[in-house]
Amino acid sequence: MVKIATQLTQGTNGTDDAKTGAVVAPLYFSTAFRHPGLGQSTGFDYSRLATPTRQLLEQQLATIEHGSSALAVSSGMAAIDLVFSALTKTGDHFIASDDLYGGSFRYFDERQANYKINYDKWNGINVDDLLLAIRPETKLIWLETPSNPTMKIIDIEGVATAVHAIRPDILIAVDNTFLTPIYQNPLTLGADIVVHSATKYLGGHNDILAGAVIVKDDKLATTLRDQLTTTGQTLDPFTSWLLIRSLKTLHVRMAAHTSNAQYLAAKLPTLDGVAKVLYAGVGGMISFYLADGYNVDTFLRHLQICSFAESLGGVESLITVPYIQTHHDMSVEDRLSLGITPQLIRFSVGLEDKDDLWEDVAQAVKAANEN
Ligand SMILES: *Cc1c(COP(=O)(O)O)cnc(C)c1O
Repeated sequence: MVKIATQLTQGTNGTDDAKTGAVVAPLYFSTAFRHPGLGQSTGFDYSRLATPTRQLLEQQLATIEHGSSALAVSSGMAAIDLVFSALTKTGDHFIASDDLYGGSFRYFDERQANYKINYDKWNGINVDDLLLAIRPETKLIWLETPSNPTMKIIDIEGVATAVHAIRPDILIAVDNTFLTPIYQNPLTLGADIVVHSATKYLGGHNDILAGAVIVKDDKLATTLRDQLTTTGQTLDPFTSWLLIRSLKTLHVRMAAHTSNAQYLAAKLPTLDGVAKVLYAGVGGMISFYLADGYNVDTFLRHLQICSFAESLGGVESLITVPYIQTHHDMSVEDRLSLGITPQLIRFSVGLEDKDDLWEDVAQAVKAANEN
């Protein structure tokens, strides 16, 4: 493979060389594809199975995540559902790291309640604890790192090595939404499955909903593709094309998100109203605690550049309160034990000028002071 920057910018181009020489790949909307004759196919039959535009996106996603196959689906939740509906059944068990996207927990709880696919949580720290939680019926280990929203780092390679040493059949799945393949390549660290909410950094502009599953094993890919053909949560051609376009700047955007976030993560602790800052060191996601006596609602209302909105990973800065918004479905005890308190702010640092962002957040924190 060429270097990632070249793959991202050029990897999907030139597919129309024989016909028009168009530099950028064309967008095909057709749902039906003509067959040359009985028992013959151009490789495309009906668009739920494959479309040229989605296939091009899937090849690009597989390449940049160091996999052999990718499946582009209609949302991040559709990606998570594809993994579970294809690879688990009633009576199976899985283990999930304990601090991850709130919607994933809502999904896991639904699987447990309705399908008796039970799960245990692991705190992401001691791998021996994880090994102890493995049962004969354990099928899958689900990790999100850095964790969401408290930015704990999990050693993917350590987990994969230890688990596969005793149980090579257990699949390690990593939600790589936060760091993207620019900063983390789970498949090269021993994971079996990578999942993305492409709504976030891969899409990058707060304007498309999409998801992806990437694997390196061909048998696993076939199982997932058969399930996707059956259930149909595929990504439509236009969104696929937009995502191809977005990926061309992923490396540049991630570098700029990181540089803005590093700047803010270093400065935020100097503010009187900020009690603690959580940052993984790379990427655009920062969490911080407003100090006691600082009113979260007042803080949000005073933001002028950053929007109070859930979601993340776009060029526009978004700020949310996980306790109330993204993680509201977790029990209060679970939220508090993870450090998801009402004072915790999650900041998806965008690509605005870093000093404008700093001034916006600093003035809003100051305004929130009730002491
Ligand atoms: C947003 C998100 C999801 C869900 O993705 P959707 O595209 O909203 O369905 C899953 N995992 C993480 C880490 C997310 O941030």
